[in-house]
Amino acid sequence: MENRNAALIEKILNFKKRRDAIILAHNYQLGEIQDIADFVGDSLELSQNAARTDASVIVFCGVHFMAETAAILCPDKTVLLPDINAGCPMADMIDAERLKQKKKEHPNAAVVCYINSSAEVKAESDICCTSANTVKVVESLAAEEILFIPDQYLGHYASTKTDKKIILWPGFCPTHARIRPEDIIKLKQEYPKAKVAVHPECKPEVIALADEVLSTGGIIGLARRAEIEEMIVGTEMGIIHRLKKENPGKRFISVSEQAVCPNMKLITLEKVLWSLEEMAPEVKVPEEIRSKARVSVDKMLEVS
Ligand code: SF4
Repeated sequence: MENRNAALIEKILNFKKRRDAIILAHNYQLGEIQDIADFVGDSLELSQNAARTDASVIVFCGVHFMAETAAILCPDKTVLLPDINAGCPMADMIDAERLKQKKKEHPNAAVVCYINSSAEVKAESDICCTSANTVKVVESLAAEEILFIPDQYLGHYASTKTDKKIILWPGFCPTHARIRPEDIIKLKQEYPKAKVAVHPECKPEVIALADEVLSTGGIIGLARRAEIEEMIVGTEMGIIHRLKKENPGKRFISVSEQAVCPNMKLITLEKVLWSLEEMAPEVKVPEEIRSKARVSVDKMLEVS
């Protein structure tokens, strides 16, 4: 297996050079994908990286909305998503038509759109946010009423940190919904000295048990701190690979082995190679939608 991977990796690196490509990978990707990436990060860090890269081709190892965000920011670059079926069920819980209807019901509300959404939905929103900057984005707005889409739990978490009125959309992440409070309670008994860090896509009853509520980038940063020796981690399991790799000697315990995003795991080394060979599947956003969505993404990057 290792030899096979070594041969694949060599081919990927050769093609990457030939195509003038950069490989970006989300913290939830398979370990072997994280290991070949030029940059691994959370949605905010990945969009910031996409915006500033000089490479001609971006191979996005993540899910569809992430590659779309790169295409929104970099219309002159080729953005490849090695498996076009890598979607996000939460992003699919809203569409532009239903959002337009909801906006009519709340004409005074500003629309804050979690980056886990399609380009069409971003184009209908006032500003985007990621889990790393939600509260900052909400607070940056003049409006007192916020329509927060599509993640009800991230929106609920933001509502506990602001005086603004937050109207929630009933979307959620099926992977983070598998993280249960009873599992955290049990692990806290087993590892009483461990810090509990969870992602804000978790349910409020899980968030209530956490010491820290952070994006994956925030969890990575916390783990580096000298005082952290053990951490109970409430997010998608892929992050454990990076936590262990960057912090040898520290202990990281995933709250649930069920917290696996099947879409994130669709990206494999073979598919990365094929996408570089064939320069496909390419993710493109029609210009009319891209230019509107770009305004929402740019506004977020300005406040981040
Ligand atoms: S972990 Fe959840 S929010 Fe993230 S891509 Fe998977 S389904 Fe979507």
